[in-house]
Amino acid sequence: MAQNNPLANFRIGFGVDIHQLVEDRPLFIGGVKIDSPKGALGHSDADVLLHAICDALLGALALGDIGQHFPDTDPQYKGIESKILLTKTYHLIRENGYVLGNLDSTVLLESPKLSPYISEMREIIAEILKVEISQISIKATRGEKMGYIGNSQGIQAYCTALVFKQS
Ligand code: MG
Repeated sequence: MAQNNPLANFRIGFGVDIHQLVEDRPLFIGGVKIDSPKGALGHSDADVLLHAICDALLGALALGDIGQHFPDTDPQYKGIESKILLTKTYHLIRENGYVLGNLDSTVLLESPKLSPYISEMREIIAEILKVEISQISIKATRGEKMGYIGNSQGIQAYCTALVFKQS
């Protein structure tokens, strides 16, 4: 039955991540350093977008989540660039015989505006995942001054990813 199903080789995944914003931390989003008075708090470089992408990829193959693969209690991941975590995550996906079809993501952040940074983020992520830039979608929205996003207490990201079995 599964062999006759044209969708059997496709899997989708969803990821979400959230970090607190604090002073005296750099802000990395999508592998890009953002000019901001506040940065994200975390064990690694706290790149909320790359973490959501990792979780979407892992989720697509039901391989658990980023916290299981890269525990925040493990000193080897302290301060690590999330680009390395995404590289390791994608290696796992490819080891399982899958590659990325496309991903779509949204970052929630009150300020600064992310539009000047988005094309660089897409290039960095496309390079790590060995796909075309057109396969990487990054959007941004604000919290309209409401809640922890709107009050600049936090940053959040969502990602969906489609992977397919490489024949
Ligand atoms: Mg995170």
